[in-house]
Amino acid sequence: MTLPDSGRVAVYDQPNGPFRLVDYPLRQPAAGEVLARNRMATICRSDIHTWQGHRPGPCPGLLGHEIIGDIVALGDGVTRDMRGDSLNLGDRITWSEYFIPGSSYFTDVLDLPQKSHGVDKYGHMAATTAPHHHGGFGEYCYIVPRSWILRLPDVLTDAEATPLNCGVATMIAVTEAAQIRIGQTVVIQGLGLLGLYGAAIAKARGARAVIGLDTDAARRTRASRFGVDLSLDPGTEKAELLRQIHALCLPEGPDVAIEVCGVAQAIPQGIDLLRTGGTYVLAGVVNPLAMVTLDANLILKKMLTVRGIHNYHPRNLIEALDFVVANRARFPFHELVDGRYPLDRVGDAMADAAAQRVLRAAIIP
Ligand SMILES: [Zn+2]
Repeated sequence: MTLPDSGRVAVYDQPNGPFRLVDYPLRQPAAGEVLARNRMATICRSDIHTWQGHRPGPCPGLLGHEIIGDIVALGDGVTRDMRGDSLNLGDRITWSEYFIPGSSYFTDVLDLPQKSHGVDKYGHMAATTAPHHHGGFGEYCYIVPRSWILRLPDVLTDAEATPLNCGVATMIAVTEAAQIRIGQTVVIQGLGLLGLYGAAIAKARGARAVIGLDTDAARRTRASRFGVDLSLDPGTEKAELLRQIHALCLPEGPDVAIEVCGVAQAIPQGIDLLRTGGTYVLAGVVNPLAMVTLDANLILKKMLTVRGIHNYHPRNLIEALDFVVANRARFPFHELVDGRYPLDRVGDAMADAAAQRVLRAAIIP
């Protein structure tokens, strides 16, 4: 297949700055690489944090790591995806949001490839860094060696498939760490995209009841379609909040609480709610300096397990795909992508996503 000489990417030059389109040359993929024509990229909360300057990001910045695309060229040696399905030109694929430099103590001993030294992510690099096409806010993406690729089944729409490699896979990792068992009760702090996938996955893992906490009334209403049985405002008076939650979580309170609201001040509330022996998983407080004051004695006395989860293991990407395929009739995942923008309107998409006028904005490059 002959490639065009170049492709466009949308870049920004400083935090909160406008986006401009830049052309960079295309080449045939090197051995072990795949070149994809991006079909859709959804804007993740971390894209917004980076653009707003809350996290360090090199400029001119190329963002977008929740991506799917079609294979337009295969480098030497790439014949199969991570589960063994054949890869061919034209296949629609997703791939891990990160890639690693190679074998290391983190991959071979700790089984934490996502925390390898030297790990890097799509949509996290300066556009001036070769091969220039390495983000979702562009027409093409080179998928480099030591990434994990999955072929997508035809049954999934683009809107269902695009959040798989960040939002869904992360919540698979979170609910795995929470060790949710059949019949258990789960509290989710934050009913944004992660919270909604978390609720649906908790139900699929056998949770008896899921309780969602969010200050936004519209989010609380929507959550009922994603497996949340009771939605409450976390600002409700403490005794009343505990009374309502504990009524659904007899005899002593929820087995699991999951923080995906990104607000450190919500952590004491999560610890307060849990039953003795319960598990608390933190996944939303991704920015540095998430300071909070809490009564550590409660963690000890209630014998709580507290876990932090950042990114996901490659196996969680396979599980994310299989979860959405198996549960797409039960939960309306297609509704979550509620704004679509062409590549020359990335700035509008980011502004709408930052102001929460849309839940998940999609760039159609
Ligand atoms: Zn993300």
